[in-house]
Amino acid sequence: MKILLASPRGFCAGVNMAIESLELALQTFGDPIYVYHEIVHNQFVVNSFKGRGVTFVNEIDEVPENSNLLFSAHGVSPETRRAAAARNLNAIDATCPLVTKVHLEAIKYAKEDYTIFLIGHQGHDEVIGTMGEAPKAMVLVEDVDDVDKLDLPANEKVAYLTQTTLSVDDANRIIARLRERFPNIANPPKDDICYATQNRQDAVRKLACEADICLVLGSQNSSNSQRLRELAEETAVKAWLIDGPQDISPDWFQGDETVLMTAGASAPETVVQQCVEWLKERFDASVEFRNIREENVHFPLPKVLRNLQKN
Ligand code: SF4
Repeated sequence: MKILLASPRGFCAGVNMAIESLELALQTFGDPIYVYHEIVHNQFVVNSFKGRGVTFVNEIDEVPENSNLLFSAHGVSPETRRAAAARNLNAIDATCPLVTKVHLEAIKYAKEDYTIFLIGHQGHDEVIGTMGEAPKAMVLVEDVDDVDKLDLPANEKVAYLTQTTLSVDDANRIIARLRERFPNIANPPKDDICYATQNRQDAVRKLACEADICLVLGSQNSSNSQRLRELAEETAVKAWLIDGPQDISPDWFQGDETVLMTAGASAPETVVQQCVEWLKERFDASVEFRNIREENVHFPLPKVLRNLQKN
């Protein structure tokens, strides 16, 4: 068996920043500390913080007044910020700057009276947060069918934005249809689908044709990890999205396959290495490192935590 270990894979700059923020907040304030939604969409990460006294909540009113609260990497709506302020919470914002960029674009287009199509997945934390910036101006578009159903004239003043973790190919299909229907549609100068999502997808697109099986490390609710699994399957590779070696079935393998291994932007390298060891032990697998692009992105911690570090 051969393992093709794809790179870039795993933690992106936004996830690193969010996890470091929670680490530092925990060290500085101690428990109890609260996080609004999962800090990142990964079971291993969330469970390890739960074991250290972090409480994850789905509603702001679950947090006792005057407590310390982190907003996760996926961002929150202004309404959630107001609810936190009303409870006098010490809110630390660990939103990824690339998500904040999309929020700012939404605010800008809404101020200019555009109808904004947000290409994304209903119910995802990031989509809820972004739509909350301009709820009256925004329309969620999940696929090409949704574009066809839009009841607006071709000359309507419209713009589109996207969730940061979409399939690049799916998003391009939806954007092409939007452009057919609204030839003057506006869009931000720089892509909203982030560098980490694009790089991980490019690596799978390039390497999947060499593999028989693809293992994607990531949790089921991780959008960018799901897109990696779908992309591998489109290249006619059997692909599984797994949280760690406990999810692997020996029945998936004959023992002589080439296994492409990658990880979504919220999956830690620890679980990748555990899976590599699992395959080495059972199938004597060798590892080939395949890096398609260097990544060198780093985001600073939220200002309030940087200030604490200085003191
Ligand atoms: S996947 Fe992209 S947008 Fe999401 S946290 Fe990572 S860098 Fe930020």
